[in-house]
Amino acid sequence: MTHPQSPPGTQNPLLADWTGPFGLPPLPEIKPDHFRPAFDRALAAHRAEIDAIAADKAAPSFANTIEALEKSGRALDRVSNVFFVLAGADTSDAIEAVEREVSPLLARNSNAMYLNRALYARIADLYARCDTLGLDAEQSRLLDRYHTRFVRAGGALDQPAQDRLAAINERLASLGTQFGQNVLADEKAYALMLDDGDLAGLPDFARAAARAAAEERGEAGKYAITLARSSCESFLQFSSRRDLREKIFQTWIKRGENGGATDNRALLAEMVGLRAERAKLLGFATYADYRLDDQMAKTPQAARKLLDEVWGRARAKAAAERDALQKIIAQEGGNFALAPWDWRYYAEKLRKARYDLDEAEIKQYFQLDKMVEAAFETAHRLFGLSFTPVSAPLYHPDARAWEVKDKSGAHVGLFIGDYFARGSKHSGAWMTSLRDQEKLQGDIHPVILNVCNFSKPAAGEPALLSFDDARTLFHEFGHALHGLLSNVTYPLLAGTSVPSDFVELPSQLYEHWLEVPDILQKYARHAHTGEPMPKALLDRLLATRTYGQGFATVEYTACALVDLDIHALPDAAKLDVSKFEKDDLARIQMPAEIVMRHRLPHFQHLFSGGGYAAGYYSYMWSEVLDADAFEAFEETGNAFDPETAKRLRAFIYGAGNLRDPAKAYKAFRGRLPAVDALLKKRGLTESA
Ligand SMILES: [Zn+2]
Repeated sequence: MTHPQSPPGTQNPLLADWTGPFGLPPLPEIKPDHFRPAFDRALAAHRAEIDAIAADKAAPSFANTIEALEKSGRALDRVSNVFFVLAGADTSDAIEAVEREVSPLLARNSNAMYLNRALYARIADLYARCDTLGLDAEQSRLLDRYHTRFVRAGGALDQPAQDRLAAINERLASLGTQFGQNVLADEKAYALMLDDGDLAGLPDFARAAARAAAEERGEAGKYAITLARSSCESFLQFSSRRDLREKIFQTWIKRGENGGATDNRALLAEMVGLRAERAKLLGFATYADYRLDDQMAKTPQAARKLLDEVWGRARAKAAAERDALQKIIAQEGGNFALAPWDWRYYAEKLRKARYDLDEAEIKQYFQLDKMVEAAFETAHRLFGLSFTPVSAPLYHPDARAWEVKDKSGAHVGLFIGDYFARGSKHSGAWMTSLRDQEKLQGDIHPVILNVCNFSKPAAGEPALLSFDDARTLFHEFGHALHGLLSNVTYPLLAGTSVPSDFVELPSQLYEHWLEVPDILQKYARHAHTGEPMPKALLDRLLATRTYGQGFATVEYTACALVDLDIHALPDAAKLDVSKFEKDDLARIQMPAEIVMRHRLPHFQHLFSGGGYAAGYYSYMWSEVLDADAFEAFEETGNAFDPETAKRLRAFIYGAGNLRDPAKAYKAFRGRLPAVDALLKKRGLTESA
């Protein structure tokens, strides 16, 4: 039998060696057609590797089983990393078609590994005698993680249960892909097209962004408000046209719930049912119990206890905020009750009145490029890192690359920032990687990306951020550092591969440094005059830190509670998603003027993939940690205290999953955190 060879000139760059700068794949040359054959080949290779490990005649050893697993699947990682970067940040109909095809194949491949009984038997054997294997601390942790993963994936179950699990996993993978694509389709399908006469209240930056968005949609000269969060939210904040605010708001919150082909409710109900069934097969009462068992929180009760502690205070604060906003409406002679599409508009007015702060004025001081520099300098002062722009073959002209070096000048990794919104990008902001750090097969350095959705300015104008956008930039950069500073041997333990209620600690902690006066004074500079932000304005900006936290905390915590509740259902028989959401919000006494930050039909954290299913509480769990962790710096009187930074790097940013999260935190802080720092940070101990 002969093996067909690619004809000359049609070499698939995904299958070739990557010899370009920093070992990057030749991204501009990669076409959607290249993925399917590359996936097929990589999947077959991984399957053969797994079968060989499982069938090894030699008795199980750490090297021939655990290390062999760590070395397997490399071709698949390469192809998948490239593919999912593009599927998130620069997708197309062709990429989406590949995504729908390969997501069940990837699930099947993962099943073939985790449900391989011979392989599980080898891991279980090693685990049972782990104390006699002469392993170091990292190797013991790795063996423990493999054992836990296999048990949680069903490796120990009998054949019929495993067959059912495999079918569930594949179906969930397809549904998750479809869910995300439906949300993107709804977002792409709509824009509120406006003329000059419809822009009352909008500051220049919002007009410029709307003009650029219209241009991208081929409607030059008009203005487009899109369903991207930055576009929509700034319109809601500034537009004095109540009719238009209502129109865009109603469309925005209906994403995934519009009937027709992109309606996500049936998919979602099926996913909830399959997850509940999966949990039962694995011996848990509900999906939430299953999910939290391997988190820092350990049980849904522990997560709920924290949320409950916050919820009552947040609602009280939001009620006071609502009354203050309603008063403005009355003062202006308005004869209507504050509605959800009014909240941001009047909150902006009140903020301006109370603190004499004008978001449009503030924005002039938050230039994207300066904020990127500010994030870099913070990393320099904490960890001695430096960042140099480099040219690299990337997938879109808006993406930029920097080489990261440490104090000694040694190469640490590559950082790619892709900051502007566009139609081909999924909404939200995230960190991802093209390559993760490890030392098992050579000294491998990471390639880390931050993808955001900031409004792109018109040509020749500087890109301006809101203070929230700047915070998002710091947040994602905190995740990036978690990937870049990773210092482990085994890839399974690298970087951000920690429980999701711990993974937001490095990112949320990093947000604190944006507010350090040193950093703001240096980098918050006026886009046109270059002047630093006047001290009085800076003080007023920082004074507003807890302003609006009632709204923000309610908007978030409602999502976390509904997430835990829907994943605590024992099954999804007759689950009517819209009714469930409505009833559950009534049960927790959701304020009528606030809508969940992510309603269920477009809640991608939970249903597009599922990384945060029964895990949305993680942000607040991590916030307890980050508020307490930043106090460790404040207690020294120096936001860049070298000793504290050293421990932070050793036990958090550089430590991947080397330790149980609670142990890692204790090693950094000397104790576990209490909720007080969080309540103080959000101003929930004060009245509005
Ligand atoms: Zn995050």
